[in-house]
Amino acid sequence: MIGEWRDSSTAKKILKAIFKEVRNIDGVVKFMDVCGTHEDTITRYGLRAMLPQNVQILAGPGCPVCITPVEDIVAMMEIAKVAKNIVITTFGDMYRIPTPKGSFADFKAGGRDVRIVYSIYDAYKMALKEKDKMVVHFSPGFETTTAPTAGILEEVSSQDIKNFKIYSVHRLTPPAVEFLLAQGTEIDGLITPGHVSAIIGVRGWEYLTENYGIPQVVSGFEPLDVLLSVYMLLKMYKNGEKEVKNEYTRVVKYKGNESAQRSIEKFFEVRDAKWRALGVIERSGLFLRKEYEEYEIRTYYPVEVPELPDLERGCRCGEVLRGLILPTECPLFGRVCTPRNPVGPCMVSYEGTCQIFYKYGSLYR
Ligand code: SF4
Repeated sequence: MIGEWRDSSTAKKILKAIFKEVRNIDGVVKFMDVCGTHEDTITRYGLRAMLPQNVQILAGPGCPVCITPVEDIVAMMEIAKVAKNIVITTFGDMYRIPTPKGSFADFKAGGRDVRIVYSIYDAYKMALKEKDKMVVHFSPGFETTTAPTAGILEEVSSQDIKNFKIYSVHRLTPPAVEFLLAQGTEIDGLITPGHVSAIIGVRGWEYLTENYGIPQVVSGFEPLDVLLSVYMLLKMYKNGEKEVKNEYTRVVKYKGNESAQRSIEKFFEVRDAKWRALGVIERSGLFLRKEYEEYEIRTYYPVEVPELPDLERGCRCGEVLRGLILPTECPLFGRVCTPRNPVGPCMVSYEGTCQIFYKYGSLYR
């Protein structure tokens, strides 16, 4: 099944159609992806190099771990210093994200209990097993990851489990795209993330097209999905169509996953929130509602962390996340900054553009 979405002869046919489509287009057409998995596919399969010179794909803010504010990471560590018997759980890439006060990995090296989990479900199971500990899941992620968080909160609240809490740093993706568009970022179309769309549906993106006139294609993650999406965007661009089309029909429905939406809506409310290296974005953060605040660790330990520098000197992650530069334009890329010695968050996370470019170095353009 997956093989058919990687078939090289079909790829050639789509590329031929793309080249035909750009024949009469003057100037450069810029599309943006806002998803680490899309960026991985584009870079891993060398899709940029296959496209016509005047079709560019920019990488946007598609890495939830990269944009998690340093102050939240530090606040979580401060809480763990004063709370008794606390275990912090988080994902492997979040564990290594640098801050001016060190990473969770450094915190663990200092003798604290920090554990890597693959999902919030693992953290929840840990709480069931280790009842003498307070398990706190430091919970980053976009809509796709928020859905399982809400699912676990359903379990925790229905079973009245007292030793499991979260630290929510969940964020919403459409407001980040809107933020870039409102700032005047010049893009001619959006390769819209398929798994976020599986939750919020095609309709979750429509307001961006209505308000900013930007064509979008909800795209799957195989190379042919992305090439087809580029072709569909080019056609819309050429014909002046402003719509949200769905290439990923095998997964994404117009209304998305309504049951997941209800569950997220039940536990979380939307507020303005900071994104590392981007600043505060209106109505982009998900925070537990008042009636469910007992599951948020900050309710018990409201520590205040003064604002810290987002990035090390010389790190251009902010420009990478805005699609203004490619990682290769950062003078530190591959020389000073590597996955082994990352200077900024975009080199740490598997979804970070810098790490993706480093991994598949020979294939980007
Ligand atoms: S290569 Fe490293 S230093 Fe440069 S922008 Fe990326 S993460 Fe920052």
